[in-house]
Amino acid sequence: AKELGRNNYQFYAAEMNHKAQNKLAMFEGLHNAITHGAFELAYQPKVALQTGQIIGVEALIRWQHPEQGLVAPDQFIPLAEESGLIVPIGEWVLRTACMQNKAWQDAGMGAIGISVNVSARQFREEDLLKRVAQALEDSGMQAEYLELELTESLIMQDLEKALETMRALQAMGVQLSIDDFGTGYSSLSALKSFPIVRLKIDRAFVRDIPHDEDDKAIARAIISLGHELGLKVIAEGVETVQQLDFLRANQCDEMQGYYFSRPVPASGIEALLRAHSSP
Ligand code: C2E
Ligand code: CA
Ligand code: CA
Ligand code: CA
Repeated sequence: AKELGRNNYQFYAAEMNHKAQNKLAMFEGLHNAITHGAFELAYQPKVALQTGQIIGVEALIRWQHPEQGLVAPDQFIPLAEESGLIVPIGEWVLRTACMQNKAWQDAGMGAIGISVNVSARQFREEDLLKRVAQALEDSGMQAEYLELELTESLIMQDLEKALETMRALQAMGVQLSIDDFGTGYSSLSALKSFPIVRLKIDRAFVRDIPHDEDDKAIARAIISLGHELGLKVIAEGVETVQQLDFLRANQCDEMQGYYFSRPVPASGIEALLRAHSSP
């Protein structure tokens, strides 16, 4: 038994070591990616359910790793957040998204908004407001076209401070939305005080529509809650025509999902806009 315990310990230590090494390698990789410009943005259209028009896009980061190929954000955003590298990465995302939006505006692509995910660490940075203002100024894009996606947990970490930051962003003309709505812990009384324009129904509640009655009830409840509060409601992760029909029948305003388009490079958005613009 002693022998076994020792082997187990060695196995455990080796495993821990392996994990730590992976983490370190990932950290170094991320650091290199920042200096070598290995990130890209993919854009996923948001579509108005009544008209079928593309009203905006969500910018989603992609990491082109020299050996591993494309690495999904779920695999590196948590470490970026933990290590603080999310601050320069988020800054790059924001500035790139603003410049891309300005290029679309200049090319006459219409009133297309762009939304950017903001992590908790990035939101809490002292100079967030300055950085957003700078990104808008340097790109020359209109503030009204920029939307920042925040999560309930990010806001609830320090509600008073978050409200202050949100109001300042709103005063700059930037739009705010709540991402992954329904998965966090904001109270209804807190929600009422958020200066936001949009709720995004989390994919978890969309996935099993139309089979799951509970998810359908939750989606309907979020839609009416959003509307009662004067907000637009968008559903994410829409993959099937049945989901689309359900959402449309229940007055959801907008949708995003593979059913319409996967996240694509900027050129893909330009092609979609040409195909879906009004005559
Ligand atoms: P999210 O903000 O909830 O973004 C939506 C995710 O759902 C994206 O995954 C998108 O590709 C995926 N998706 C969209 N439509 C469908 C669908 O119909 N079916 C399915 N199965 N998935 C769909 P992605 O791009 O892998 O991003 C994952 C998460 O990583 C994002 O979730 C967001 O939390 C984070 N993330 C992505 N880009 C950034 C960024 O620039 N900054 C920060 N802080 N986080 C980011
Ligand atoms: Ca998002
Ligand atoms: Ca989301
Ligand atoms: Ca989500």
